[in-house]
Amino acid sequence: MAVKRILTFGEKTLERVSRKVEKIDGETMELIRDMKDTLMAAPGIGLAAPQIGVLKKVIYINFKDGETEFILMNPKITGKSGSERDAEGCLSYPNYEGIVDRPKKVTVTGLDEKGRSVVVEGEGLLARALCHEIDHLEGVLYTKRARKVYKLEEQ
Ligand SMILES: [Zn+2]
Repeated sequence: MAVKRILTFGEKTLERVSRKVEKIDGETMELIRDMKDTLMAAPGIGLAAPQIGVLKKVIYINFKDGETEFILMNPKITGKSGSERDAEGCLSYPNYEGIVDRPKKVTVTGLDEKGRSVVVEGEGLLARALCHEIDHLEGVLYTKRARKVYKLEEQ
């Protein structure tokens, strides 16, 4: 078990482009375990590998509802439709949210954690989470896409 430090906005790694996963070796498996542990210990629903300092195309989504949970490697958006304007935040930018337009539905292809090709259809929050995490793999932070960004009230 390894909960990693989550990088925050301003750290240059977050603005770099990640590399494709070429093979699922021990290093990749360790990265996947670390991403799961880190997201489970954090108040979020998605994490991208660069957020823990590893520039590899791996994302992990976990809505913590016992249903929506998966690893996706080398994810690629192959279809999108509609548009939805809503608030979103990022574990790398605590206490802030922004209003971002995202597709209402997306189709994403990639590899699951066993290296099998998968197609994920996402709608609403899942479409938003997929777009947000895939952006991280290209070094794009949501604040670049946001119409406005604002600080949340202290809890
Ligand atoms: Zn993020």
